[in-house]
Amino acid sequence: MKFRRVYLDHSATTPVATDVLDAMIPYFSEKMGNPNSIHAWGREAKNAVDEARGSIAELIGADAADIVFTGCGSAADNLAIKGALWASRNRGKHIVTSAVEHHAVIDTFKWLGKNGYEVTILPVDSECMVSPDSLRAAIRDDTALVSVMFANNEVGTINPIAELGAICRERGVLFHTDAVQAAGHIRIDAANLPVDMLTMSAHKMYGPKGIGALYIKKGLKLVPLVHGGGQEYGIRSGTENVPAIVGFGEAARLAVRLDEEGEESRISRIRDRLLDGIVERVPDSFVTGHRRERLPYHASVCVRRIEGEGMLLRLDYAGIGASSGSACTSGSLDPSHVLLAMGLDHATAHGSLRLTLGKDTSEEDIDYVLDTLPRVVETLRELSPYKAG
Ligand code: PLP
Repeated sequence: MKFRRVYLDHSATTPVATDVLDAMIPYFSEKMGNPNSIHAWGREAKNAVDEARGSIAELIGADAADIVFTGCGSAADNLAIKGALWASRNRGKHIVTSAVEHHAVIDTFKWLGKNGYEVTILPVDSECMVSPDSLRAAIRDDTALVSVMFANNEVGTINPIAELGAICRERGVLFHTDAVQAAGHIRIDAANLPVDMLTMSAHKMYGPKGIGALYIKKGLKLVPLVHGGGQEYGIRSGTENVPAIVGFGEAARLAVRLDEEGEESRISRIRDRLLDGIVERVPDSFVTGHRRERLPYHASVCVRRIEGEGMLLRLDYAGIGASSGSACTSGSLDPSHVLLAMGLDHATAHGSLRLTLGKDTSEEDIDYVLDTLPRVVETLRELSPYKAG
């Protein structure tokens, strides 16, 4: 098959959509006002920030006043967890999260564990799902906060967030969910979910990098992590990154349009063709994560008797951009904490491959991967010291 370049790492980041970039550009130059200024330039920037806030709120069925912009998804996770705990220090010192969170959550919990909190880490099943029963059993009278991700970045599994949130609400415990991989890709109705805080990040949904948002349920108080000029209702000081916020707003509108055009069913259909094709054509490979409760753009597999880094390098050489897990850990040789928590052994976890599709991924791209990957695996196995036989 003819060489082509196929980017399949949309979970790591997405390209900025043309409409998004076009919307952003004026706010770097002629519309460069500081939204806190009183003059026309300032008012213009403030209106743009307000409009973007409204679009993001609409995407998740919330009110504009419930959205606070942050420097990125990681910053929103930190603000939610530390800010809510600091604001409610009388609630107790026990906090709960899952074993498969992004480092922005899990490392925050580890830090809190060294600073006076007692941490319970919930297990996941072999498909990476957190069970409501395990959460119910973990909550104590002194539990202050629970954070469980909406959908996993490495294997795409979507958690039963409504059930998990309902358990927290029943017990009067704050519930945060990291929806960085889910927002803009599956429908989220924050107003009707028992969720107190929800994290989003623009660069996972065709917006720019370096801008995130936190949905905060009305009435919930957070202590700011960044003190200063009192922007963002005093919760996140610092002059607003207006071009990025405008881009995030446009990305939210794009997500709504894509949803109306049926993108979710298109992308999940070609994703399933990819997953089925890999399992059929690559001997000793299997799907990781949940087959049905899964992000529509997310494909992940494990290939036994293969060293993942070698597979990624050879795919890259063939023009295919893939990853073995989360972007931030793919440079390390340690197997992913997510796959280990799902019960995979180290050797198998080393053969993990994540292929995450985007709005521009075509049927031809899938054909190309299905033609290339089996040959890459075969060559690597020929070279491998673990060669079967
Ligand atoms: N949470 C999840 C689930 C993610 O996948 C990521 C990014 O990979 C983040 C948080 C961090 O988002 P950001 O890169 O905007 O800090």
